[in-house]
Amino acid sequence: MNYDITVASSGQQTISIVEKSKPDLILLDVMMPDLNGFDTCRLIKNNDKNFYIPIILVTALNEVEDKIKGIEAGADDFITKPVNKHELLSRVKSLLRIKSLHDELQEKVILLEDAKETLRQLAIKDGLTNLYNHRYFKDAINNEIERAKRNHTQFSLIMFDIDYFKNYNDTNGHLAGDDVLRIIAELVQRNIRSIDVAARYGGEEFALIFPETNKTAAKFIANKIKNLIDGYKFYNEASQPNGKISISVGVATYPINGTSIEELIDCADRRLYIAKAKGKNQVIDEG
Ligand code: GH3
Ligand code: MG
Ligand code: MG
Repeated sequence: MNYDITVASSGQQTISIVEKSKPDLILLDVMMPDLNGFDTCRLIKNNDKNFYIPIILVTALNEVEDKIKGIEAGADDFITKPVNKHELLSRVKSLLRIKSLHDELQEKVILLEDAKETLRQLAIKDGLTNLYNHRYFKDAINNEIERAKRNHTQFSLIMFDIDYFKNYNDTNGHLAGDDVLRIIAELVQRNIRSIDVAARYGGEEFALIFPETNKTAAKFIANKIKNLIDGYKFYNEASQPNGKISISVGVATYPINGTSIEELIDCADRRLYIAKAKGKNQVIDEG
């Protein structure tokens, strides 16, 4: 019938073949030395990954009790010896049909899970920079406040804004401006821990959450990011009033600068504007 057949000569061998080659159907003798067909069937079906491999028990017995035992062990069908070839083939065909429907369904489930994950990412990520979006940031900072409250720990929030960005767009075009946003996002992402959250807060404003990070450590990382951007050679940045792409940064720390999302964002934002007023391209963690 053009089926690929693998023969196993014991229950144990059946189990190890099933683990390796994931057959589409198993014909299983009940009376075998060592591990009998019922136990073999049970061991195969106990593994969730094998649950949908159909098993036909081949038995010399035709006792109701054995059929019940077989069903309880997870068998899908029975055939009694002496085996009638036509009966066997029709049972094999019908179970293979079910198995192939199941496999198709399984593939669709995987596709659906992938699509769900893509949608989830789209809902929480910013399309241009691939950083988290404003909505995710708000949820993340609320969670962080709750966690810090529970554990009596600190965390810091950094907000920054690109200096003279309107000028850069006006001189070099919005596409070049978009490149700057993407490069800055990448520089940030590459220099923070995986537990930190980097978000695009608005057009050219970014917000970063640093769990378990006090004011001193936050100022350090803020300066590191500011210096990285200061030092990076952006396309035609000499056209900027200060001759470079740079950022102004405000730092706020929970709980010393606020205990609510509003207080913390207000504080970081206020400090960002102090940084602008003081001449830009700097980090402010006071005032
Ligand atoms: P300051 O130094 O005070 O921050 O001045 P600025 O020019 O950066 O500030 P302003 O608020 O005047 O301009 C912000 C600019 O950011 C204007 C807007 O065109 C630009 N911008 C916002 N979102 C995007 C974006 O997605 N892509 C590009 N290319 N530009 C953007
Ligand atoms: Mg701005
Ligand atoms: Mg700006």
